[in-house]
Amino acid sequence: MIIGKQGEQREKITEASVSRQHCKITKIGKGRYLLEDLNSTNGTFVNGQRISVMEVDDNTIIQLGPKYSVRVVNLFTDIGKEFDKLKKVYDNYNSQKLSISKNIAKKNFQRSLIPSFISPIILFGSFLFSGEGQGLIIFRVVMAVVMVVSLLYTAKSAGKAQQESPEKNMKLEKKFRKEYVCPSCKRFLGNIPFEELRDSVQTCPYCKTKWH
Ligand SMILES: [Zn+2]
Repeated sequence: MIIGKQGEQREKITEASVSRQHCKITKIGKGRYLLEDLNSTNGTFVNGQRISVMEVDDNTIIQLGPKYSVRVVNLFTDIGKEFDKLKKVYDNYNSQKLSISKNIAKKNFQRSLIPSFISPIILFGSFLFSGEGQGLIIFRVVMAVVMVVSLLYTAKSAGKAQQESPEKNMKLEKKFRKEYVCPSCKRFLGNIPFEELRDSVQTCPYCKTKWH
């Protein structure tokens, strides 16, 4: 891709000190490029050094002449558009987090229902039951079994819910850390609400890219 005032980069360059065809950038791998100066009038610079050919990556800032510099990734990507996508990422993260905790509360409630139903049934049953001898023994054995089964079920489902929720939370956090990133340098932006990033932060604290 040719970069310059008449280049093919995403955003038009109007700075006068940039040549019409200033330099050329060629993708050679994932996030890796070959940067070549095209005999520009004012030179192509990386880290203050004038270069003719150099390997660069997404995050390299290249300077064309004395007044214009750009991060490589911004030559290809519409940062503003990519940044706006983070709103959905943030909203999804929060609603999923809420649904995980709601689900735990719901399961806890369901679990608490079982023993609180079983106990009065057993109590009530033993009042009503008028059998004697063998009948009474069978009744007691059946009730004891019911009690034990309900306790086992409660304990087992409590263990399962406790195991499931941190796992789901961890997966969610991992996904969030991977997706809620600066569109330019791909660093995680922390648990800062999207609106705050857009309205007050505005600039990436790591790579200083202005998002809009
Ligand atoms: Zn950044």
